[in-house]
Amino acid sequence: MSLKNLETAKERRGEIEKKIDMKLSHIGNYSLNESIASSKNCENMIGISQIPMGIAGPLRINGLKIEKDLFIPLATTEGALVASVNRGCKAISLSGGANVNSFKVGVTRGPVFYTGSIEKSNKLFYWIKENDKKLSEIAKKTSSHLELLKVKIRTQGLYVFMRFYFDTQDAMGMNMATIATQELAQFIERKLGVECLSVAGNFDIDKKPAWINFINNRGHKAWSEVVLKKEILRSVLKTNAERFFEVWLTKCMIGSAMSGSLGFNAQYANIISAMFIATGQDPAHVVEGSMGMTTAKILKNGDLYVSVYLPSLMIGTVGGGTELETQKEALGIMGVAGSGKVEKFAKIIAAAVLAGEISLLASLSEGSLAKAHQRLGRIKK
Ligand code: NAP
Repeated sequence: MSLKNLETAKERRGEIEKKIDMKLSHIGNYSLNESIASSKNCENMIGISQIPMGIAGPLRINGLKIEKDLFIPLATTEGALVASVNRGCKAISLSGGANVNSFKVGVTRGPVFYTGSIEKSNKLFYWIKENDKKLSEIAKKTSSHLELLKVKIRTQGLYVFMRFYFDTQDAMGMNMATIATQELAQFIERKLGVECLSVAGNFDIDKKPAWINFINNRGHKAWSEVVLKKEILRSVLKTNAERFFEVWLTKCMIGSAMSGSLGFNAQYANIISAMFIATGQDPAHVVEGSMGMTTAKILKNGDLYVSVYLPSLMIGTVGGGTELETQKEALGIMGVAGSGKVEKFAKIIAAAVLAGEISLLASLSEGSLAKAHQRLGRIKK
């Protein structure tokens, strides 16, 4: 970075710190505790891959206890993304704010067993159903923050696939769930004389696009909605309800169906990946997070209703990468670092995704997408 740019970055950082009312001790400096990162986050560590982080907002969310203005940290190299979410935040906030909801479904881990016959597979199926209390006790012993919620079982001839759902409190929980599943699988092997072929048999299903995670959910599911006022559609988003609706219908619904997409949305992956990287989530879970559906409806008075539904958000506010300094600070910007905050985090992500949807669909509807990327995503000569 040249000295001149460094000064500009420092000034910008000062302005941002004033906006979010927080001192960012790590952003802009060497920002990683190497001994922690190399002992629990990354083997054979040779360096740090840096990704710039911006903020979008303020974003108004109704019914959510937020002490100060809410800003969304986004780590990205895609010029125009932060500006786009920022514009969506403005449109939502000026329209009265986003409504949000979320539900913790539980992280899944799914072992696969070899039984030897359909009869033995059937026996294992009923044994699991009848011994759920014992299985819960075994799982609980592996962590003071884990509970077995339910199990879904499917038999395939010689094989039995299970999908355990765990509440892992504020952690995303993949490590916790895997440790618990290992214990459960060993117990089942001992009791029934069957063989666990793999502690993860893809009925979980982790980091692969799959309808089961869309339909039965994984991690958290979350919703957000807003009614965009006519004037805001015109003044902030430079479009109108009819043009927006038409693009939503053809792109998110018809285009997605034609291409066999598991996402009926405009750009969930952009916001999910930028928030995940900023806050230390596992970026591979963008696969689950990018599924979901955006809906739109023109209201009688000409306002526009828009909603997003995220069926599978794999997130945590403790554990994994969330313990790294910069990532923890990014969670802190939204007031969701540490215990007791994960539900709030799910709701904020949903509202941020809504902001991204609104801005991109509006931009497509008035034809400014290419121009915006040309202007913001390339070096000015
Ligand atoms: P973790 O950091 O491995 O475990 C979370 C730890 O935080 C546990 O030791 C837990 O307590 C503790 N904890 C303290 N307060 C807590 C609270 N309020 N709620 C929940 N836990 C609390 O994190 P994880 O979420 O289980 O796993 C995330 C990591 O798994 C990520 O780095 C991800 O990349 C990786 N991952 C692993 C797999 C796999 O197959 N193993 C797959 C995908 C991703 P206890 O000591 O009481 O349990």
